[in-house]
Amino acid sequence: MFIKFTISGLFLWILACHTTVAQESGVSQEIKTLMSRAIEEMNSGQYAEANVTFRKMLASKKVLPTNMSYFFAETLYMIKQFHNSENFVNKYLKLAGKGGDYYDQAVGLQKLLEDKKTEIRDCNYCNVFGYRLHNCQLCDGKGALTSTCYYCKGNGRTNCLTCQGDGVIITKNIFDVEEYKTCHVCETKGFNICKVCHGHKVIENQCPDCLGSKLTQTDEICDHQAHDRLDLENPENRIEN
Ligand SMILES: [Zn+2]
Ligand SMILES: [Zn+2]
Ligand SMILES: [Zn+2]
Ligand SMILES: [Zn+2]
Repeated sequence: MFIKFTISGLFLWILACHTTVAQESGVSQEIKTLMSRAIEEMNSGQYAEANVTFRKMLASKKVLPTNMSYFFAETLYMIKQFHNSENFVNKYLKLAGKGGDYYDQAVGLQKLLEDKKTEIRDCNYCNVFGYRLHNCQLCDGKGALTSTCYYCKGNGRTNCLTCQGDGVIITKNIFDVEEYKTCHVCETKGFNICKVCHGHKVIENQCPDCLGSKLTQTDEICDHQAHDRLDLENPENRIEN
């Protein structure tokens, strides 16, 4: 699979536009200070730091400026937390509406997020949140764990209960004479194929980690590229003898 990466001109335009802190009533000085710091961090490209500052604002449980939702959404986009970014940009548009200070930028950001969602949807290496998937370590990518069959204890067959393993059923007739009849259940073999494992000796249980999907999430943001195969056309990857 080949996915093109382009830097959107629209996004560069968005980046140039956040320089002011809206003065909103009911916002405490503490929050205003944090907001200014977060914007400074964004403007100097320190999005990981801005992310921490915004989260401090959220944790304060104080009244937050409406624009904060937009700034936080942009920061989350830059640190590739696209799902969270979408939540905050949607929240901003809901709160601020068309009259919002960053309405156009928010709509632009939504478009960028749509592109990201398409990339994620088209990629087989990540989950819906864009996190890289890898083979489940617990089941080694099989989706199931095998264990010895509890019913036959790994024999694959069980003693026939109808004939007690003899292969014949002995009854006494009215003259008190024993009659031998072939066991119709095991057909004289004296054993039957285990009804739990069907003779496989092991049983498979769904893997409790990946729930049978064979893959588990990592905390690595996916680049939507295959990693496991070396590009042997590239001379740097060739082993010289
Ligand atoms: Zn039998
Ligand atoms: Zn069995
Ligand atoms: Zn698993
Ligand atoms: Zn991906």
